[in-house]
Amino acid sequence: MRARLVAGNWKMNGSLPGNAALLSAIRNGAHSLGKARCAVCVPFPYLAQAQQSLAGSAVAWGAQNLSQHGKGAYTGEVSAAMLADFACTYVIVGHSERRTLYGEDDAVVAAKFGAAVDAGLTPILCLGETLAQREAGQTESVVAGQLDAVLQRFGAAALGQAVLAYEPVWAIGTGRTASPEQAQAVHQLLRERVARAAAGAVAQELRILYGGSVKASNAVELFAMPDIDGGLIGGASLLADEFLSICRAADRVTG
Ligand code: PEP
Repeated sequence: MRARLVAGNWKMNGSLPGNAALLSAIRNGAHSLGKARCAVCVPFPYLAQAQQSLAGSAVAWGAQNLSQHGKGAYTGEVSAAMLADFACTYVIVGHSERRTLYGEDDAVVAAKFGAAVDAGLTPILCLGETLAQREAGQTESVVAGQLDAVLQRFGAAALGQAVLAYEPVWAIGTGRTASPEQAQAVHQLLRERVARAAAGAVAQELRILYGGSVKASNAVELFAMPDIDGGLIGGASLLADEFLSICRAADRVTG
């Protein structure tokens, strides 16, 4: 069985003193986790703080975005190599907020995915449909298209060093969660699509996280589904007790 992973996405939140308390509470609470894995994806300026606080602990850290370029005249951008300098394990790629607010299309997301893999990072590739797309019956074609943009460019083997996160846009930060059955259906089709494209065990070993208003109160029922391998957690990752409860829920179903 794939060990569940719970990754926090802090988004643009935090402060040095607030982070110190949150990181230390998560680090201490994560000691008692069994097989489940836990990570936090923090804003760029706090990577050094996360590294210092979490090194040697059970909690991995990462970033929420990266540049598709290696280096040069890209003012304001952060490269994959820079994230590696801070010993990041993960980087979120293609979050719906990046796609909608910053115009990242599938080609840009795929390029960022490739830059992350080349630097030895594990991209958490976000996929998901809007409410209008779901209501128009387009969920499958939307997420398949987002996945194919990466598969066609890098091949399915590249997913051996990646995590997928199914995040229906209508469930992010809205308090509205996909039902376990709705999420499972999409996770299953994503895994089947990877299996058709990949030789060997890539599809079976691929972690597919669910994201969208996950809380301690709904985590167990989501994580208990056969193709849901944990969660990408936004708002609830800013509350140590809530986040740790979600991690423990992942641990229970990883059992
Ligand atoms: C996210 O931003 O990736 C997310 C899932 O947010 P929330 O948990 O707040 O819905």
